[in-house]
Amino acid sequence: MRPPLPPHLMMDAFETFVRHAPFAAALVDSAFRLTAVSPDWAAHGVIPDIEIGDDFRRALVNPEDIDRLERCVTFGEAFSRYRSVGVAGATPRIWRTEFAATRAPGEEGELGRTLAVIVTARDVSGFAETALKAERDQQRLKMALELDDLMVREYDLRTGEIYCSNTSPELEKWCMFKDDPLEIVHPDDRERMAELVRNRKDGEAQVFEFRLNRDDGVETWVRSVGKKFLGADGKPERLVNLFKDITDRRRQTEAVENLAFKDPLTGLPNRAYFNRKFQEAVDASEIMGELFGLIMIDVDHFKDINDTLGHDAGDALLKRLAEMLHTAFRSGDTVARLGGDEFAVILRGLHSEADMMRPVNALQDLLRRPIEHGGRSFSVSASIGAALHGDLDADPSHMIKNADIALYRAKDEGRNRSVVFDPSMRSALEQRIELLRDVRAAITAKEFVLYYQPVVDIASNSVSGFEALMRWDHPEQGILTPDRFMAAFEDQDLSLKLGDLAFESALKQMRDWMDAGVEFGRVAVNISAAQFRSGHLAEEVQARLARWNVPCDRLTIEVTENVYMGWGSEMVSDTVRQLHKAGVMIALDDFGTGYASLANLRQFPIDRLKIDKSFVQNIEDAAIVKAVITLGSSMGMKVVAEGVEDQAQLDALAGYGCDQIQGYHFSRPMPAGMVPGYLRGFGV
Ligand code: C2E
Ligand code: CA
Ligand code: CA
Repeated sequence: MRPPLPPHLMMDAFETFVRHAPFAAALVDSAFRLTAVSPDWAAHGVIPDIEIGDDFRRALVNPEDIDRLERCVTFGEAFSRYRSVGVAGATPRIWRTEFAATRAPGEEGELGRTLAVIVTARDVSGFAETALKAERDQQRLKMALELDDLMVREYDLRTGEIYCSNTSPELEKWCMFKDDPLEIVHPDDRERMAELVRNRKDGEAQVFEFRLNRDDGVETWVRSVGKKFLGADGKPERLVNLFKDITDRRRQTEAVENLAFKDPLTGLPNRAYFNRKFQEAVDASEIMGELFGLIMIDVDHFKDINDTLGHDAGDALLKRLAEMLHTAFRSGDTVARLGGDEFAVILRGLHSEADMMRPVNALQDLLRRPIEHGGRSFSVSASIGAALHGDLDADPSHMIKNADIALYRAKDEGRNRSVVFDPSMRSALEQRIELLRDVRAAITAKEFVLYYQPVVDIASNSVSGFEALMRWDHPEQGILTPDRFMAAFEDQDLSLKLGDLAFESALKQMRDWMDAGVEFGRVAVNISAAQFRSGHLAEEVQARLARWNVPCDRLTIEVTENVYMGWGSEMVSDTVRQLHKAGVMIALDDFGTGYASLANLRQFPIDRLKIDKSFVQNIEDAAIVKAVITLGSSMGMKVVAEGVEDQAQLDALAGYGCDQIQGYHFSRPMPAGMVPGYLRGFGV
């Protein structure tokens, strides 16, 4: 091993090194004298007021620095200091000056006395600025956090240490945890959150909204942005979360959503909400093949309930129905009011059609109980259409249409029933829609005409009048009977149009016959339920009679018992009474086919009872026919038998005391033009 250099040679070496150093450096000997500087030191004027040979302590303004330089020489303690160096006209630079002692080797490997102090200086202005900026950013960030009541929590995944930003004491209280970050999540939200966290990729930020797990029971919603930061080894190192209390905002959105998505009368979700939930169900069925059901509910004759019992009763009924729906369906099902008396239910996670029909049947059961309102009790029924999305190849968005079609069918089959959609129904409905469209066009084209069928009085063997029956003179198919367009009489709008048409052409015809001296007796016109709806039917009929100058006692109106017994019967009763008083004859049509008993009908001013042809033509019903004739006569009504096709039927009816006969035995319905000839030939 080579012996160390003697101290004076070492000093020479240091001086040479410093003079050629490619950075700012100076050498100070143990007597504090400046012995050498590097070119950079001289150029930058790091410590300008001192020259080679001067006591370096003179350059140190700060007494502390002088002390530290002395300690550096005496004990070899290195130190550093910052100095701001101003150059005229430029922003001051910041220099970091480092003082390091070089010491002679001492005894037994220990360090000996200080030979010199090497002073180096670095322009650290750039670093300092960043450091300063970082500190300011930190302050700003903290202010922002405090201002917004935000809280940052940093969890060191390796050590388990948790750091908090100290910016929201309230949040901090509930956002700290012992072992698992999910501890702070309310139990009801935990599963959902756990799922989200599981799917989160490390290093990716994720936003959550959940309730805090507060043991004081106060509901607090927070929004949290969370991210796992990776360490140099690529493994997650820190979990950083930013928390914000969003309880107020949540409540506001809830209130707004309530407004936007709730029906104020029943408190049920409205159509907008239903649409949203329906889309969710469609998505779930598309993604997971989930079976779901859709139910459409329509209160039977709701309009009549509203009209006759008042809107209060209508509202009470709707509220009551909402309650029933809640009872009948599971809490997970979406029960919504789509508007008016239309309700819908979405049932998710079904296994079979039976799953869907169980609550539907429960609802029908509940509906059978009468509803109390304003001291009155009334009964309601509903028509229900159901559709099941089982065919995974089919488009689930057709479900609404399908359920509607089933509902339509339920109404068509006489209401108060539930029908499950079947694809064959679609074509039936389409045909019906097509028919109604054709009828509408045929009305405009004046293709509807009346045929007349005589009613014969048995006792006098004379024609007492005619029933006017609608025919469609179809340009291609010829004369069509009402069984080909019955749906039109059930359609609100078309039945009114056809009703108008029947009255107008019957009255015009009567006028013509009267002018021509044809003794036709009376003409009976059939009236459908919808024609009573306006409440002005009596006035309208009287006005028409006056316009055509036809006396009231030339007209009969035929009303079926279902019209009397249905909703709005008070209005029907008033109208009929008024017409009866004016001299119009009232006939009860199709008697025996509905549910009315004669006792029920006593309150109505009925002049004629028409026994339905199904009884007349069925020999086994002879006893019924006999009883009806006896009862009708005893109540002061004349009894007409419909559908008499042969002499035997005629004889039997005459024997029972029947008053009048209508049927093919005398004549089929005929065009008006044949009536005068028929009358001339009758009885001849
Ligand atoms: P309805 O009021 O019961 O009319 C009697 C029906 O029995 C008529 O059928 C008539 O042609 C038929 N008929 C008469 N005698 C016999 C017979 O001996 N044997 C058989 N098998 N049938 C007989 P039509 O004309 O086809 O009318 C059917 C229904 O259409 C009518 O039944 C009525 O409910 C309705 N309708 C017809 N015209 C009008 C109308 O202008 N307004 C309304 N609202 N309904 C009408
Ligand atoms: Ca009739
Ligand atoms: Ca009839």
